[in-house]
Amino acid sequence: MEKEKLLEEITKNIKDCKKCRLCRSATNAVPGEGNINSKMVFIGEAPGFNEDVTGRPFVGRAGKLLETFLKEIGYKREDVWIGNIVKHRPPENRDPLPDEIATCKPFLELQLKTIHPVLVVTLGRFAMNYFYRDGKISRDRGNLIRAADFLIYPVYHPAAALRGNSMMNDLRVDFKRIPEVLKKAEEILELGVKLPQISGQDFDGQLNLGL
Ligand code: SF4
Repeated sequence: MEKEKLLEEITKNIKDCKKCRLCRSATNAVPGEGNINSKMVFIGEAPGFNEDVTGRPFVGRAGKLLETFLKEIGYKREDVWIGNIVKHRPPENRDPLPDEIATCKPFLELQLKTIHPVLVVTLGRFAMNYFYRDGKISRDRGNLIRAADFLIYPVYHPAAALRGNSMMNDLRVDFKRIPEVLKKAEEILELGVKLPQISGQDFDGQLNLGL
């Protein structure tokens, strides 16, 4: 089946899914959207209020900030693919629970396998820990980490940056590096470079970019 059809099929399955409690309190599923041929995807934690209402990822204030930072590096949101690790909104925007993340996991796995990106920019701690169990966002943000067939680049979640502390500046700095990070990620994948071993699920290491 071709890529577009496969992703449509996954979207349909997400919309029909009732495998965890989150679908009971949510209005709409938020499967993800954007350029399915992009080398770069952005993954957040879970839909919030505006996402639940519209069925689209990152459409509230955090989404606007994401769009601003994308623009600063020459991208529009339509140029990249954007999704979340869980597809229905947790009640009152609480953190997704481990069993909810585990139950929803196959959907994002299938989406990423189909899109086949070079770089996954993880937004916030939950998205980073989805790929790198032992990761700590304050320590690992801004580093390039090998995961399965792609690399991840953890940054703070835009919603956390909006709370008005130094995270806003850190997020801007990390975003500015994305074009160079993407180039580096392509080189690493092309050359089959093995990164230094670190502990964590499905990982072969991380690179302190020092850019
Ligand atoms: S959050 Fe994921 S696993 Fe839970 S009901 Fe929604 S799509 Fe299914």
